[in-house]
Amino acid sequence: MKVKLISFTKNPLEVIYWAFMNMHHVVPDSIENINLSSDEKESFFSMLIKQPHQTVFEFVNLVWLIEGASRAFQQQLTRTRTAAYSIQSLRIVDVGDFASEKRFAISEELNNNAAALKIYRETMEDLQSKYRELIRLGCKTEDARGLLPLNIHSTITMAINLRSLYHMLELRFCENAQGEFREVARLMRAEIREKISPILSEPMKPLCFRLGKCISPVPCGKYDFPVAIDTDISRWVKR
Ligand SMILES: Cc1cc2nc3c(=O)[nH]c(=O)nc-3n(C[C@H](O)[C@H](O)[C@H](O)COP(=O)(O)OP(=O)(O)OC[C@H]3O[C@@H](n4cnc5c(N)ncnc54)[C@H](O)[C@@H]3O)c2cc1C
Repeated sequence: MKVKLISFTKNPLEVIYWAFMNMHHVVPDSIENINLSSDEKESFFSMLIKQPHQTVFEFVNLVWLIEGASRAFQQQLTRTRTAAYSIQSLRIVDVGDFASEKRFAISEELNNNAAALKIYRETMEDLQSKYRELIRLGCKTEDARGLLPLNIHSTITMAINLRSLYHMLELRFCENAQGEFREVARLMRAEIREKISPILSEPMKPLCFRLGKCISPVPCGKYDFPVAIDTDISRWVKR
């Protein structure tokens, strides 16, 4: 899987600082005139993530390329409405070699279950051959794609601002989220840390870390936070 930050707002930390300072101060008319020491940046940002004016994080836009992740993951990703997407069209692109080229997702659990993995791989090969057969019989790719599995890899690009990204990652770092999404979340955090600053990656943690409690109706039990919902939820939610 490849998760790449391909473009982002220039001078992001300074832009956020500028937007915040504008509320109570006269700000310079050029972002370049803002010179912050690393200590100042760190203390400013640790204050910023705790206060309510989170709008300032909307001034930083990020464009991502995600390759080698499944169509199932894409369905989950695009539930985040506060972002823009461009998704590879399986109506147009012929993916008749997806199984031979191993372009489908396999979870860690499947990988560790030899018997299940065998069935899974064989079914992928089978679907590929039936897909090719339909194309050979003159079907359009937009019809043949109906046979494709949810776990087929497909490229997606996403534009999202930093505030929405923090929100999405808090939810998807949760142990209840699927492993594939958690892996994307980890890779996004690593990209932000490397290409922008470790300061901006700091809030990228499961929601329970910020709240100091778990608000999931189905607590994962991994972290030692108090649980907010203590009623019997089995009538409404499956574990
Ligand atoms: C572990 C996990 C399991 C999930 N399982 C399921 C599932 O089984 N089925 C399923 O359907 N979804 C599921 N989801 C998706 C989830 O319900 C949300 O749709 C998704 O996480 C996007 O969250 P959001 O709406 O807060 O984010 P965004 O769409 O980015 O919205 C951000 C914020 O903007 C505001 N907002 C956006 N649009 C509106 C609106 N129209 N009206 C009012 N306020 C708005 C809200 O405050 C929202 O929190 C799951 C998510 C997780 C993390």
